[in-house]
Amino acid sequence: AGTSYTDPMTSGRLTVLAGPTAVGKGSVSAYIREQVPSVWPSVSATTRPPRPGEIDGVHYHFVDDAEFERMLAEGELLEWAVVHGRAKYGTPRGPVLAAIAEGRSPLLEIDLQGARQVRQTMPEALFVFLAPPNWEELVRRLVGRGTESEAERERRLDTARVELAAVREFDVVIVNDDVERAARELVSLMDSPVIE
Ligand code: 5GP
Repeated sequence: AGTSYTDPMTSGRLTVLAGPTAVGKGSVSAYIREQVPSVWPSVSATTRPPRPGEIDGVHYHFVDDAEFERMLAEGELLEWAVVHGRAKYGTPRGPVLAAIAEGRSPLLEIDLQGARQVRQTMPEALFVFLAPPNWEELVRRLVGRGTESEAERERRLDTARVELAAVREFDVVIVNDDVERAARELVSLMDSPVIE
């Protein structure tokens, strides 16, 4: 392993956090962003409009379609996907590699299609699936969030059914029964030495 960027002595380790819509990936990564300085939360580019309270450059880089296509054409994205059949989302590559080189551990909160691409290009990464305690709870959280129309919710639940079936592709599964507990479990995994 020695010189690879997975070497925990000298550099950070990329972690990919995936899981269905409304499972709480945002809450878990917000907790980690505040509590763990060694973790570097990747900021994705997206073509969807900001939700109330979302800040450009913090939650996402909000870009138009032309800018997204330019980033893609110039090889600036580590992975990308059309999510929920609507907007494009992608991870800027440069900042992720820079964070690893600086000894920080990038945390990518991305969808299943994106996680599969990272699995191809950076198989050393830690692939974590955040799961809901059960299906009813997932639906309850999505409805409770109240940010999507009913049609949009149905679309997201369709995606969630597909994503839940892919749980076996991941290195570890964390059940989000409680945000703080799930976040601590994730941090302890990110901190543990890489065994190869
Ligand atoms: P939302 O629109 O609710 O913020 O995110 C919708 C979905 O897009 C979530 O499942 C989230 O994980 C995914 N997503 C966010 N950023 C990226 C990204 O850079 N790449 C990919 N593949 N998916 C992303």
